[in-house]
Amino acid sequence: MDPIPAKPCIYVNGEFCAYENAKISVFDHGFVYGDGIFEGIQVVDGLIFKLEAHVDRLFRSAQFLKIEVPLSKSEMTKAIISVAHRAGLKDGYIRPVVSRGAGPLGMRNMSKLSPATVVIIPQNEDAKAKDSLRKKGITAHISSIRRIPTDALDSRVKSCNYINNILAYLEALECGADTAIMLDATGHVCETHGSNIFVVRDGALYTPPVGNILDGITRQTVFELCAAKNMPCSERDLTLYDLITADEVFETATMIELMPITRIDGYQIAAGKVGPMSQALHSGLRELMKGERYGTPIAA
Ligand code: PMP
Repeated sequence: MDPIPAKPCIYVNGEFCAYENAKISVFDHGFVYGDGIFEGIQVVDGLIFKLEAHVDRLFRSAQFLKIEVPLSKSEMTKAIISVAHRAGLKDGYIRPVVSRGAGPLGMRNMSKLSPATVVIIPQNEDAKAKDSLRKKGITAHISSIRRIPTDALDSRVKSCNYINNILAYLEALECGADTAIMLDATGHVCETHGSNIFVVRDGALYTPPVGNILDGITRQTVFELCAAKNMPCSERDLTLYDLITADEVFETATMIELMPITRIDGYQIAAGKVGPMSQALHSGLRELMKGERYGTPIAA
């Protein structure tokens, strides 16, 4: 299936456009400076997973960056549902993006910008392709690019400025790996270039605390699953030693769900196979994603 839906379903400042008409200004400060925020939301079997949590995080990012979203939370929620409906998404991805707006170049011209630009993009995804990767696990590279420190930019902000993560990912690709593990300035493990990270050791799960990571919605869901399954799970500072000597390592994110990591640079993780906890948690996550508890139906 083509990732881009053929119907006029892309939301651009209140209008639903077809792909070829979905355009914003070259003067948009999201384009010029990366001055904007976004969310990545998954649709599974026609249900939008944890929509409210994503809208809340989008508005928190906006509040922190002083971007005035020209829609209320409930208008944004309705617009996202409408995009998914018009696109006929069954399994896919929805990306709301809000930039500070369009206007003259120069940060000094911040006061002369239009109201914030709001775009909502739907995309079809091939769920089977992700699953085949999940069965054998992926490889990771420990990036030489450190995560931006929180006193420079709090990692909880999901901003349109992903250069730090992109550089880490490019380095991982050059090393032949699938994902990039990023450390903070003190050498502690943060997250990967686009996911949170967990380790399993002696039947317990550990993940770095919020501080220098995105407060992931899938990460939060893993906490819930662990609580329901009586699996011990806690936040703890982790170093590379914890990753390399773990029984299992996996990353979590909306798009990839839960992806086992079986090799990190020159090290094989345990037996180099997808472990039982990763498998059990991913099945639990899928069940939740397909269920109505957190799923918003895509209706007109
Ligand atoms: N960390 C980073 C840097 C991310 O970009 C993402 C989302 N792709 C995540 C973690 C995972 O967040 P979520 O589970 O909310 O998708």
